[in-house]
Amino acid sequence: MNFDDTPEEASFRAEAQAFLSANAELKGTTEQGDETEDEYIERARAWQKLKSENGWACLSWPVEYGGRGASPMELIIWGQEEGKYDAPVGPYVIGLGMCGPTVAAYASDEHKNERLPRLVSGEDIWCQLFSEPSAGSDLANLRTRSERDGDDWIINGQKIWTSGAHYCDWGILVTRSDPKVAKHKGLTFFFLDMKSPGVEIRPIKQISGGSNFNEVYFTDVRIPDSQRLGEVGGGWGVCLTTLMNERLAVGDTSGVDVPNLMELVSRIELDGEPALHNNAVREKIANWYCQMSGLRNTRYRVMSALSRGQTPGPENSISKVVGAGKMQGIGSFGIDLMDMGGIVVDSDNDDLNSQLFQGSFMGAPGLRIAGGTDEVLRNIIAERVLGLPQDVRVDKGIPFNEIAQGPA
Ligand SMILES: Cc1cc2nc3c(=O)[nH]c(=O)nc-3n(C[C@H](O)[C@H](O)[C@H](O)COP(=O)(O)OP(=O)(O)OC[C@H]3O[C@@H](n4cnc5c(N)ncnc54)[C@H](O)[C@@H]3O)c2cc1C
Repeated sequence: MNFDDTPEEASFRAEAQAFLSANAELKGTTEQGDETEDEYIERARAWQKLKSENGWACLSWPVEYGGRGASPMELIIWGQEEGKYDAPVGPYVIGLGMCGPTVAAYASDEHKNERLPRLVSGEDIWCQLFSEPSAGSDLANLRTRSERDGDDWIINGQKIWTSGAHYCDWGILVTRSDPKVAKHKGLTFFFLDMKSPGVEIRPIKQISGGSNFNEVYFTDVRIPDSQRLGEVGGGWGVCLTTLMNERLAVGDTSGVDVPNLMELVSRIELDGEPALHNNAVREKIANWYCQMSGLRNTRYRVMSALSRGQTPGPENSISKVVGAGKMQGIGSFGIDLMDMGGIVVDSDNDDLNSQLFQGSFMGAPGLRIAGGTDEVLRNIIAERVLGLPQDVRVDKGIPFNEIAQGPA
C-alpha cells in the first residue's frame, strides 16, 4: 500500500502549507493563557474571515456558497496541516461540519444564498439544538413541541448540552410535531435565529471550569414555516443528514499522546530510577503505542478509500472509541506519575507539561460522549461490522404518546 501523496495532493499540501505558515503560528509557539472566551471568539471569527478571503474556508462546499469544491482527500490534507497550527477553529466545527451541510441539502435557494456565505465568511456561528434531558443516544425520544399557527410554527420545550449556544447567531432544531405516530415519524426540523423572542440560554458549568454547554429553553418561540427543513414529520431523515456529518466532524481526537508520555517518563523518577525503566510503566506505554499505531493505520485506510473515490466504512467509530479512551488513560496516568505536581495549575511553572495532561484527562470524557457514546459506537461496530444481532427496541412502531415515559 502506498501512503504517499499523489503529485496533485502534494501540490495542494504545499499550497496549504504556504498559506498557513504565512498567516498562523505553529502550535506550542504562542501563549493565550489569559484569553477570555469573547477574545477567543473574535480571534476565531477573524481566522475564518481570513480563510474565506483566501479560498481556504469550508473547502468541500460548492463554490457558489463560498467553498472551494475540494475533494474529501484535500479536506483531510487541509485538516492535517491546519491542525499543526494554533488556529481557533472550534466555534465553527458544528456550523460548518453539520449545520451548513444540512441547510445546503434542505433549505430553499433563497435561504441557502442568504445564510451559507455568512457562515463560511465567519459572520454567523451556528449551534445544534438536538439533545434533551430524555433524548441523547435515543434522540428520537425528544419532546420539544412544534405546533403550526398560520405561516409560523410555535415552539415550546427544552434542549440541553447545546455547545456554544450563548455566542451563536443561528441554530438547527429538531422538534416533535406529531406525538400520535411512532417516535421517528412525528419529527419536524427547522433552523432559527438564536435571538428570537422566547429563546432563553442558561450556561452549564463544566469540570474544566469552562461553560461551553448550555440549556436552551423555548417559550412560544415563533419560527416561519419557510425555515422548516424537510417535510412536516420528515425531521428524522434531516437529522440523519446532520448526524452523518457529525461523525466526520467530531471523529478526530487530538490531545496528549504517546510521544508526550515518553517525554514525561524520560524526565521523572520512580523508585529512585528513571520512570522509563519501570516495567509497569513500559507495559502501559507499549499498550498505548499499539493503539496509536492501529489508529494511524486505520486513518490511512480511510484516506486510501477516499483517495479511490470510495466512502469509508465504520472506521470513524473505531477511531473515536479507541482514540478518546487512550487520551483519557494517558492523561490520567501522566497526572499520577507527576504526583502532587500533576494537579498544579500554573502556566509559569509547567516544566512537566502538566496542563496538557490535565486538559486531556478532563476533556476526554466529553469526547467519549459527544457524537455518539462509546457504547453506542460499539453497538454500531457490533451490528454493522461484525454482523451481530440488533440492539433490542421495545418501542418500535408504537405511537410516541403511548410509550411509557417518566414525568415530563
Ligand atoms: C462535548 C459535548 C458536546 C455536545 N454538544 C452538543 C450539541 O452541541 N448539541 C446537542 O444537541 N447535543 C450535544 N451534546 C450531547 C450529546 O449528543 C449527548 O450527550 C449524547 O448523545 C449522549 O446522550 P445523553 O447524554 O443523553 O446520554 P444517554 O443517551 O442517556 O446515555 C447514558 C448512558 O447510557 C448508555 N447507552 C445509551 N443507549 C445505549 C444503548 N442502546 N446501548 C448501550 N448503552 C447505551 C450511553 O452510552 C451512556 O453511557 C454534547 C455532548 C458532549 C459531551
